Amino acid sequence: MINCTFCKIIAGEIPGKIAYKDDLVTAFHDINPVAPTHILVIPNKHIASTNDITQQDEALLGHMLLAVKKIAADQGIAEKGYRLIINTGPDANQVVQHLHVHIIGGHYMRHPMG
Ligand code: AMP
Ligand code: ZN
Repeated sequence: MINCTFCKIIAGEIPGKIAYKDDLVTAFHDINPVAPTHILVIPNKHIASTNDITQQDEALLGHMLLAVKKIAADQGIAEKGYRLIINTGPDANQVVQHLHVHIIGGHYMRHPMG
């Protein structure tokens, strides 16, 4: 089995504060939050990064965004807004090699493009 922290959270082998779960995706609170709300949404199947997605994942990826919408509403941040981040590879500082969407919100953020 792949030694993947996020696969272990899905399997319940290491604890995670689960915010949402269904057949395809799991969402849990980031262990080191950078904002009042910081949740990671991941596919239940192991995909290392956006470099590893295939045509077969098309519906899963759409499902992930629909889950984001649901979670943002549940967390009460939908109206004021939030930021989604996907880090891919070393230049983006991807630390965990299991595809994840960061949902970050709960306070105002400056525009990241400068
Ligand atoms: P990234 O740099 O995009 O790979 O982000 C990985 C994120 O995973 C970081 O924000 C970490 O704080 C978070 N993280 C790492 N291990 C855990 C864990 N066991 N439970 C929750 N979040 C985690
Ligand atoms: Zn994994």
